Amino acid sequence: MTEAVDEAMAARALDAADPLAGFRARFRLPEAADGTPALYLCSNSLGLMPVDAGARIAEVLDSWARQGGGGHEAGKAPWLTFHEQFAEPLAHLVGSASGEVVAMNTLTVNLHLLLVSFYAPTTTRHRILIERAAFPSDRYAVASQLAFHGRRPEESLIEIGPRPEEEVLRTEDVIAAIERAGPTLALVLLPGVQYLTGQLLDIEAISRCARAAGACVGWDLAHAIGNVPLALHDSGADFAVWCSYKYLCGGPGAVAGAFVHARHAHATRLPRFAGWWGHDAASRFDMPAEFVPMAGAEGWQLSNPPVLALAPLAAALTLFDAAGIERLREKSLALGRFARETIRRRLGGRVTLITPDAPAEHGAQLSLKVAGTPGRGRAVHAALQAAGVIGDWREPDVIRLAPAPLYNTYGEVERAIGHLARALAAP
Ligand SMILES: *Cc1c(COP(=O)(O)O)cnc(C)c1O
Repeated sequence: MTEAVDEAMAARALDAADPLAGFRARFRLPEAADGTPALYLCSNSLGLMPVDAGARIAEVLDSWARQGGGGHEAGKAPWLTFHEQFAEPLAHLVGSASGEVVAMNTLTVNLHLLLVSFYAPTTTRHRILIERAAFPSDRYAVASQLAFHGRRPEESLIEIGPRPEEEVLRTEDVIAAIERAGPTLALVLLPGVQYLTGQLLDIEAISRCARAAGACVGWDLAHAIGNVPLALHDSGADFAVWCSYKYLCGGPGAVAGAFVHARHAHATRLPRFAGWWGHDAASRFDMPAEFVPMAGAEGWQLSNPPVLALAPLAAALTLFDAAGIERLREKSLALGRFARETIRRRLGGRVTLITPDAPAEHGAQLSLKVAGTPGRGRAVHAALQAAGVIGDWREPDVIRLAPAPLYNTYGEVERAIGHLARALAAP
């Protein structure tokens, strides 16, 4: 009991000293049944709504109402170039030049578009390396691309996983698998942060190794962007894709993004599925018959930007830029340290944290397994939800809690763990 009191006091002191505390007021906080703010620890699934999101959408609607099609070229953010405002803030988040990124489509669509360009199997070099526990959509995309090229997974898919009795991948094992595949390897596709375990992979080392083996390398950053600082350009990765509704707070179904390394900026010989918005902007409206791609990531665009869907992302990225991903990461690590210490002290062996402890190997997410049967874990998760702690449950046996440094507090982490302790103590 006294421990809990000490931790609550420690949390209050940490919140009082938090230089990013002011950002919480820039978000709408969901309410629990009693009208108080819910303990929202679910930004790994859907980030909260920036207060300004509605105003950004209203600006677009207002422009449409007043000017009709004139909004394409007039107003504060003309629709023809609306997507361009996202390149700079996205580049800050992924560690690239602005020409290497573009906001477009949704994650799985972008993954397919980039697989068209970066998975061009030959008779000898045709294998794709993914993880056994890959997010289903990534697996479906890869399997269907293999089928599209007349390839069978039995020959062309390499799946890697943790060692028996271990929960997360070892970098040395990933590297060994890449080296074993050697000249048969066409592509490595891995997550920056693994969705189930919360493990942050060594993007730099794996990218370097894949390229040394002569393969292309792509990253799914769904759980990494806005969560951990990235250095995609320097990693040498060929491409990356992400969605914008998790840590990025772009809203449900938000417009996603893609990175294409600068060395492919003028790669006109790469196969690609083209659309008019990827065509050279200078001659796009001359309506030429021949496709001439724009330089850089914008050359992979298909359609004119979905302006209404993009508008809330502008509100969110303004806040990310103001806070800065390095400062956010600093707070995220401190929140995670506080959570880990509190969990160990109060919950002991009743839960296992499967997310790695080392700061270089995790983002914001804490993935917990409850001792006992999966049924027990599901019951504990349900008790947490009933107590107003919004986390999520992933089959077969993982509770995910993710404190987001833009708006979560140390006090919320402390209270959520208190609810977890009570749920675990219940029969
Ligand atoms: C969330 C997530 C997706 C989502 O795909 P959409 O195309 O945006 O629906 C894909 N891959 C991973 C790893 C994810 O975590």
